[in-house]
Amino acid sequence: MRSPADDRHAPLPCRRVGRSGLSVSALSLGLWQNFGDGTPAADQRGLVLHALDAGVVHFDLANNYGPPPGSAETGFGRILRTDLARHRHELSISTKAGYRQWPGPRGEGGSRGYLLASLDQSLRRLGVDEVDIFYSHRFDPTTPLEETIGALATAVSSGRALYAGISSYSATRTQEALTVAASMGLPLTVHQPSYSLLNRWIEEPDASGRSLLDVAGESGTGLVTFSPLAQGLLTDRYRDGVPESSRAARGTSFQREYLSEANLASVDRLRTVAQQRGQTLAQMALAWCLRDDRVSAVLVGARTTQQLDENLAALDAPGFTADELASIDEAAVD
Ligand code: NDP
Repeated sequence: MRSPADDRHAPLPCRRVGRSGLSVSALSLGLWQNFGDGTPAADQRGLVLHALDAGVVHFDLANNYGPPPGSAETGFGRILRTDLARHRHELSISTKAGYRQWPGPRGEGGSRGYLLASLDQSLRRLGVDEVDIFYSHRFDPTTPLEETIGALATAVSSGRALYAGISSYSATRTQEALTVAASMGLPLTVHQPSYSLLNRWIEEPDASGRSLLDVAGESGTGLVTFSPLAQGLLTDRYRDGVPESSRAARGTSFQREYLSEANLASVDRLRTVAQQRGQTLAQMALAWCLRDDRVSAVLVGARTTQQLDENLAALDAPGFTADELASIDEAAVD
């Protein structure tokens, strides 16, 4: 067992999640990849404890993170037990359910049976009595929204989760979910969408005429965004080809089409802007996501402590000038 650093809460800024009492580190750690059974337990432990020492207090999981599904929660539960048992109350841990987790009709989606059975399994794997945030991982068009949101309400009222969230719901579906949740007296505290310099869908109005950023801002729902580095594309990782250890080479979620000439050219232009700001591209990409205070936190992935350290220094540089933001807009376009 290793105790976390005494000054661990000093280095990183924290932000409120929407209008709730929940505060999380503006840069938080996601355990989607790099925390499955293929990663040695010692490496996982090293990364989590390193993050904690640097001020990260929010760790994001889901039932299916691994591979195999469930193994990231089991691994994180092991670290909680061995190193962090006395510090559980300092941490915000989230999990989700929505994607395929077990065979059969009840093994994915947004039904009450699936969401609550999955949450109970997550709690067992993590070895905790409750998680801080429980998310519906995706909108399920085959289940009434009242049932999905009702299951989140039960998760909260039964004490299995402190806050409820939704992930990757469009602006329209988010508005509908907020209306249903309000009728049940449930605050939808947080929304988890993808967002990066190369993926700005949350800024765009959808068929309802409103963007997710606007819906979230008006309702007081905090945005905790994912894949801020476009899975590594917005770093120096692919500057000179595809390294063997990279996510693109592993081929699990990173499709080779992302490395199109147009994308790589945008990335090169963005790198030049970052250099002019005295930052690495990864640091600028992270700081850029956090320039809007409707974004409560950015979930960054990291495979090594070196990557994590580079990312955690993202907020050391000053905020963006209007000219810099304009240069970024121009550089990001194909
Ligand atoms: P990122 O966009 O931060 O990508 C992380 C990857 O980028 C790393 O694994 C690493 O790739 C590379 N990388 C990170 N930092 C650096 C660096 N400084 N220099 C070079 N390469 C770097 O995020 P993720 O896509 O991993 O998503 C983050 C989290 O968001 C997830 O862990 C999960 O918690 C959440 N998420 C939620 C989803 C949802 O549906 N709600 C979906 C996806 C993610 P490499 O392995 O090649 O070294």
